[in-house]
Amino acid sequence: MQNNLFMMTIGLTVAGVILLLKSLVPVRVIIQKLPAGTARNRWKLLSSLIFIFILGYILYAFIREPDSFNSISTLVVPSIFFGGAVFVFLVCSLSLKTALDLQRIYVLEQESITDPLTGLFNRRYLDRRIVEEFQRAMRFEQPFSVFLLDIDHFKNVNDTYGHQIGDMVLKKLSHLITESVREVDVAIRYGGEEIMVILPNTRIENAFELAERLRKQIEETIMVAADPRKRQPAIHLTVSIGVSEYQFSDGWDNAQKVLQRADKALYQAKDQGRNRVATSKKQDDQC
Ligand code: GH3
Ligand code: MG
Ligand code: MG
Repeated sequence: MQNNLFMMTIGLTVAGVILLLKSLVPVRVIIQKLPAGTARNRWKLLSSLIFIFILGYILYAFIREPDSFNSISTLVVPSIFFGGAVFVFLVCSLSLKTALDLQRIYVLEQESITDPLTGLFNRRYLDRRIVEEFQRAMRFEQPFSVFLLDIDHFKNVNDTYGHQIGDMVLKKLSHLITESVREVDVAIRYGGEEIMVILPNTRIENAFELAERLRKQIEETIMVAADPRKRQPAIHLTVSIGVSEYQFSDGWDNAQKVLQRADKALYQAKDQGRNRVATSKKQDDQC
């Protein structure tokens, strides 16, 4: 009986120690994945506590006289130890699994709103974001503007240098736009070579200035460097931009009006000769 109880105590304690050791694996992964900070320090503290538990378990099982295992009640403590180890193991492994699942969901969510070629947001994100901007504008009575940018004669770039160079131009342009606009502004690939920028808390005059600055910057930038081996000259581009501002008369239910006005202004810029910025006029506000 004494011998059996001793063996069961050892068994429960060893199983507990193994589970605690196994708990250190997910804890280690979590520590490696977390950036330096409070959460990481707490997981480190938790791993130190698990070490202390392991030492405690070992000491409990082996620093006891074999003849002290004389009643079934001696199994209570090792059973609690074992239950505690199961609990720690489940919490640590579930924490890791949950963190990885959340990370996967976040990546999928980001992918679903990102344009793969340019890295800008896509149209799906625009639909969601424009409604949010409307709600914010209505609630806080703040303005917001948008501008719609279209590359001038982009078809010529594809026809002359090929689609791949066209794609390179689109990437470079998108990079330039995200670098040039403010951090709060949101750049979205609206169509093939049309990019929309939402400018929260911005009046149309300031949006115009920003668009004009960007237009000049694009005009002065070499989009693709010359390649003498292919006898390809440096590629420059110009863009036309239509700017519009949210009107309170647009109401809650028609988020598309501000986009339609930007589109109309863009066509005006094209009509007036391209490489320019046009704003939606008062009479266009009814569209
Ligand atoms: P403009 O806007 O000045 O009137 O002339 P455009 O030549 O730019 O005319 P349009 O805007 O209608 O042409 C769009 C071109 O953009 C046609 C298409 O080949 C090209 N395009 C659209 N999406 C992509 C893309 O993902 N990659 C490449 N390389 N080209 C694209
Ligand atoms: Mg174009
Ligand atoms: Mg176009």
